[in-house]
Amino acid sequence: MSKGVNDLADGPNVVIWDITYACPLRCMHCYSESGRRGSRQVGPDDLLRITDAIISLRPRLVTLAGGEPLLVKGVFEVADRMSRAGISVIVYTGGWTFRPWMVDELARVCRRVTVSLDGPAPEVHDRIRGRAGSFERALRALELLDAGAHRQRERGEKAVEFGIDCTVVRGNADHLEAFCTDIAPRFPELNSVEFCAAVPSGLASRVGFVERELLSDEQVAWLESDGLRRRLRSLTPSSVRVATTGNLELRMSPAQLAHGPAFRAVQIEPDGQLRAMPIYEGTVGSLLDEPPQVLWERAVARWSDPFVTEALSTAETMQGWADAARRIDYRFGSDADRDRIDRREAFPAVPVASARAVR
Ligand code: SF4
Repeated sequence: MSKGVNDLADGPNVVIWDITYACPLRCMHCYSESGRRGSRQVGPDDLLRITDAIISLRPRLVTLAGGEPLLVKGVFEVADRMSRAGISVIVYTGGWTFRPWMVDELARVCRRVTVSLDGPAPEVHDRIRGRAGSFERALRALELLDAGAHRQRERGEKAVEFGIDCTVVRGNADHLEAFCTDIAPRFPELNSVEFCAAVPSGLASRVGFVERELLSDEQVAWLESDGLRRRLRSLTPSSVRVATTGNLELRMSPAQLAHGPAFRAVQIEPDGQLRAMPIYEGTVGSLLDEPPQVLWERAVARWSDPFVTEALSTAETMQGWADAARRIDYRFGSDADRDRIDRREAFPAVPVASARAVR
């Protein structure tokens, strides 16, 4: 066992479970290519077996993402089981499938709900999210959460905690202030707004996307600057936490790992396959077949694989990171992954007009 594995023997502190690849949206930057591939969703028994395997890894935090987690029958039982085991659970949603009855369930079973919103107006958000009407649906979800949190507080109950997550690309980078001045004040119970740079993963690793929508190095530096953070916070109601990140820790480059295991995360695919490295293709086995700790150790070993180390040694720029991501995906992805990558539409993706027909 390498030194790195010994250092990481406690297991991951964060688990990202893409619990389904089904999704009603068609985002240009989708890391998981959801909605454009089979859902790989498992049945209720295996859902709970994967849940228990994740719990046995004793992470501090589990994010239920996808795909659209709220499409999964049984997602509330999954979140409840994890929360009862002392794990913080965050549920991500695009808001399209959000229903009023979900507010009380989410307050009961998770720590926070995060609604993805990529623009302060439909023309920005719907273009990035690939479906006309998605801005209105996301705002409707935020309205329901806001009203629900207010109601719960008045009843003396635990109020649902909710936030907004914006994936920052070139097409919305000029609109961040409007989230603070136009969107946040509409929801008095809102807890947070987070601006997170798109990373070159999945559809966001396509050459055309990298050239036209992935932030440049200068834009990432700007997104992470104290000056921008101060400016955005000054524009936002003081009750709302504002954060920005360039997401650079997701690179997992040799230079970063040399500083120690600051980022101990694993990503799980819908059917329990555990990825060796979050955001990159390539799995090391299934939680349904092998002990979770064995898979974790196998994943950590991948981080120092010579191919990975060599590929990521050039990932100091956004362009270099994207090149490295494509190489790693192709090297470690399965035959099915490579086939999917080969068949990807070139960017620009489906225009909004034709995305209307998506069901
Ligand atoms: S909401 Fe968008 S980014 Fe999220 S899974 Fe669906 S298509 Fe992908």
